[in-house]
Amino acid sequence: MSTSTDFSRAYSITVDAPTALEAEDRPPETEPRPCILLVEDSPTTLSLLSKPLSENYSPLAAHDGVDAWKLLQAHPEIELVITDLEMPHMSGQELLVKIRQNDNPQISNLPVIVIAGAAEKDDRDLAFKNGVNDFVTKPIDSSELQARVRVHHKLARTIRELEMSRRALADQATTDPLTRLKNRRAFFQEGRQGFSLSERSHSSLSIMELDIDHFKRVNDTYGHQAGDKVLIGIARLLTRMSRSVDTVARLGGEEFAIILPDTKRGGAAVLAERIRAAAADMPFHASGRPISLTISIGVATSGNDEADSVAALLRIADRRLYVAKKRGRNRVCVTDDADA
Ligand code: GH3
Ligand code: MG
Ligand code: MG
Ligand code: MG
Repeated sequence: MSTSTDFSRAYSITVDAPTALEAEDRPPETEPRPCILLVEDSPTTLSLLSKPLSENYSPLAAHDGVDAWKLLQAHPEIELVITDLEMPHMSGQELLVKIRQNDNPQISNLPVIVIAGAAEKDDRDLAFKNGVNDFVTKPIDSSELQARVRVHHKLARTIRELEMSRRALADQATTDPLTRLKNRRAFFQEGRQGFSLSERSHSSLSIMELDIDHFKRVNDTYGHQAGDKVLIGIARLLTRMSRSVDTVARLGGEEFAIILPDTKRGGAAVLAERIRAAAADMPFHASGRPISLTISIGVATSGNDEADSVAALLRIADRRLYVAKKRGRNRVCVTDDADA
C-alpha cells in the first residue's frame, strides 16, 4: 500500500504505517478515531494540517467547497470541518453558509474552523457572521491547531450526548416501556391539545377506552409473561387499526385508550366495532395453545356528550366501558341509551 500523500482528489489520508513494534506499543483502540474533514486547495497547507491531526483523528481531504459538500453528504461520521477560505468552485464562506443552512442538524451543527491569514479582518468578520466556531491563523502552528480541534470536537460531542439523553428522558417520560405506546401522562397531554383544537375548529373529538376481558385469567392460566405478550399484541393491533393522527395509549394494566381527532360518534363507533371484532378473531398463543381473547370498549364524543375537558370525556368513556362489561363483555358501548 502506498504511504505517500496524493492530494489530487478526496481520499482518506494515510500516514506512514507504524512498524509492528510501534503498533504493539499502542493501547488497543476501543473506538475508531473521530473523522474530520479538511478543505484546502493548497497541497502544502493540507499536509501541514493532516500530519499533526492524523495522530488522534482520521482526516478526510477535499480541495474545494464542492468536493467538501459531497463528502459531507457521503460521510455522516464527519465530526468537524476545517476549511480554507479561498478555493476554486466554492469558497470556504459559501461552504460555511451551506453547512449552517442545511436541514439536517447533524450537518448544520458541525463545528467549523476557518483557516485565515492574520491580517484578514473582513474575512474573519464575515466568517463569524456566517457561523464559524473558531479560526486557525496562517502560518499554522500544529499545537494551536491540535488544541482548537480537540476543544471543539469535545464540545460538539458533549452537546450531542446531552441532546441524546434529553431525548431519551423525554421518551421515557411519555412512553409505556412494555408496549412502546404513549403512557397515561402523554395521553392527557395530547388529549388536552386535541380537545382545545376541536373546540376551536368546531370539530368532534372522540375518545375510546378499551379493556381486555378477563385478563386476570390469562395471567393465572398461562403466566405473567404470556399476559405481557398479549398486551404487546393488542397494542400492535390498536396501532395498526388507527390513523397516524390518532393517539394510542396504554392507560395502565390492561386498559388502553385512543384519541380520535376530527371523528364523530358514528365514525368512532364503526372503528370501535372493527377493533372489537379484530381482537376477538386474533389468534393469540401461549405455550403453543391458542388463547381466545376479547375486549370491551366505551366511547365518548365531544359535541354529542357533555364534557368540558378530555378528562371528562374519558370519564364518560369509562362509564360506558363499565356498561359494556356488565352487559356481557366483548361489546362496544357508545351512548347512555339503555338499549344502545
Ligand atoms: P374484566 O373483564 O372485568 O376487565 O376482568 P379482568 O380480569 O381483565 O380485570 P381485573 O382488573 O380483575 O384484572 C386485570 C389484570 O391485569 C390483573 C393484573 O394482574 C393484570 N395486569 C395489569 N398489568 C399487567 C401487566 O403489565 N402485565 C400483565 N401480564 N398483567 C397485568
Ligand atoms: Mg486557498
Ligand atoms: Mg380487564
Ligand atoms: Mg381493567
